[in-house]
Amino acid sequence: MLQDHRRIGCEVFDQRRPFTFKLDEDGVVKPYAKKFEWRLSDLKPFFYDKKLVERMLSRGSDPLIYETYWPSWETVEGVIGTGTEIIHPGKIGDEYYHSRGHFHEKAINSEFYVGVKGHGRMLLQSPEGEVVVISMEPNEIAYMPPGWGHRAVNVGRERMCCQFVWLLDSGHNYQVIEEGGFLKLLLERDGKPTLVDNPLHGK
Ligand code: ZN
Repeated sequence: MLQDHRRIGCEVFDQRRPFTFKLDEDGVVKPYAKKFEWRLSDLKPFFYDKKLVERMLSRGSDPLIYETYWPSWETVEGVIGTGTEIIHPGKIGDEYYHSRGHFHEKAINSEFYVGVKGHGRMLLQSPEGEVVVISMEPNEIAYMPPGWGHRAVNVGRERMCCQFVWLLDSGHNYQVIEEGGFLKLLLERDGKPTLVDNPLHGK
């Protein structure tokens, strides 16, 4: 293992050495090496109201849904990494803006999400199909158990910012989510986030 650790390193720091990160006033990890933006057009499979998505896109409305910021990690077994996820406030119909969500390819790996700003929820689904919602408010540390798929959802009116900490060799499996999505969705009902059966399942 030590041999592996001698190899690792990246553009902004050396993964073999101790260091600290700082979150800036927007809650973004510094230093970071890469930033990704996810617009509605990138996320078509991940919102249930396909007709509304197509209508919005055809009239030129392609909102920015979320952003991620990453130090440029080199994947090594047993080494952890961190990054920032910012989900903008908004809804597609009654479905709150959210990240794609994923399962880990290496299902024995767990993960933490730390709430930094705004009002978030984590939507989780077990390998057996149990769906659970937990809150992710500022200073709250949300635990993703091994095998559970997870998605961050912004249920507030401001930007929701969180910091994830995961094992770099976890791998991300988006396919399960893309092919019909989570079994339940977090939708707004009577002004409140409510867990509702995903209408795309059972069709
Ligand atoms: Zn994960």
